[in-house]
Amino acid sequence: MESNALVDYVKSLDCIHCGLCLRTCPTYQLTGVESSSPRGRIYLMRAVAEGALDARDAQYREELDFCLVCRHCESVCPAGVRFGEMMETARAGAESVAPRGGLERFARWIGFSVVLPSRFWLSLSIGALRFAQRTGLLKLVANFAGARKAGLSSLAEAPPASERRLLPERTPARGAERGEVGVLEGCVMPELYGRVNRATVAVLADLGFASRTARGHVCCGALHAHNGELEGARELARGTIERFEALGDAPIVVNSAGCGAHMKAYGHLLEHDAAWKERAQRFSKRVVDFSEFVAANAPADWAPDASGSGMGKLAYDDPCHLCHGQQIRAQPRSLLERVRGAQRVEMNNAESCCGSAGIYSVLRPADSQAVFDAKARDFAACGADTLVTANPGCQMQWDAGLRRAGSKARVVHLAEVLAARVSQKS
Ligand code: SF4
Ligand code: SF4
Repeated sequence: MESNALVDYVKSLDCIHCGLCLRTCPTYQLTGVESSSPRGRIYLMRAVAEGALDARDAQYREELDFCLVCRHCESVCPAGVRFGEMMETARAGAESVAPRGGLERFARWIGFSVVLPSRFWLSLSIGALRFAQRTGLLKLVANFAGARKAGLSSLAEAPPASERRLLPERTPARGAERGEVGVLEGCVMPELYGRVNRATVAVLADLGFASRTARGHVCCGALHAHNGELEGARELARGTIERFEALGDAPIVVNSAGCGAHMKAYGHLLEHDAAWKERAQRFSKRVVDFSEFVAANAPADWAPDASGSGMGKLAYDDPCHLCHGQQIRAQPRSLLERVRGAQRVEMNNAESCCGSAGIYSVLRPADSQAVFDAKARDFAACGADTLVTANPGCQMQWDAGLRRAGSKARVVHLAEVLAARVSQKS
């Protein structure tokens, strides 16, 4: 393969080496080493494209894996460098010339090609996880997992089977219907946080919107793309587009920041696929984050009531793929300001990564926890009782991290806070 095809050389030329991104990069904060910074990684990518560095180089691979793809560097970059897209291309390129070892490749194949795209295997896996957590088997296995032990211990608590259920195909509006929307159920969301999906459609119903799910749809391919599995990601993107096209042209509400950012970028993912490019662009325009949709459609006097819920002071932590990936910052905060019976407080460094980063917390638990530790300190300092997020990966990371630290604070999705008023009505 041409070295130029292993990275996105044209995009790498946008970098003007100003270094403004360094102080916000969580991996640079951990090491203080240039090659662990966005600018350093771009230098490495350029060196690969120019033939000065082999894409099989161990240090190069390590820096690609070490990156959380949090895209904080994009938010502060004056040159508009599209680092997330560059990283997806670079990871796929490195994988194509130097595939990982047999066991790791097999584990990735199981995860990306068997489990994530299949509701059957997802349900079975989460059911098995619950069994292992309840019986202590997971702790036993973790003892033999070496460096991955912390990653296994940080997995979210799998809920009982009664919680792990899909949404109905259509949830009607309450009272007069203002319109209909599609809702992304997600792959792990119904298995681990089904209550968040139920809160999402309850809020939409309260605002007068009927919700429809794309039956048979499982995964949007975000985790595949972030991990360099671009062909798998494209296949899943085509399936996602097809299934949601079958629902008409209504907006598609997404309550997972990582999935939403990825689905809004399908046009880029399929830009070299002539048959799908335009369909992908049309589809992406329909995608809207949950907070974006609610903020735009809630009447001025709509005020969720969390009295009696015990949520107390709420601190919102921006998921990277919402603030850096979709530039959505104000809407979740303005919605929390409307909540009666709770008080929003601001947390320092809310826009920095919590260390979840998709499956990063499982693959690199030590780095993930080091990144989280700084967040935990900021959360403790702001005096909040409840951490609010808008992404399942972050919810898992906060749940596990605060549990580990012995904190009694609650961790909830924005939809759960806003649904408090709805559940109190019913
Ligand atoms: S995506 Fe995040 S971790 Fe990666 S280089 Fe940018 S700021 Fe650093
Ligand atoms: S802020 Fe942007 S232009 Fe400046 S060094 Fe970082 S990536 Fe390059």
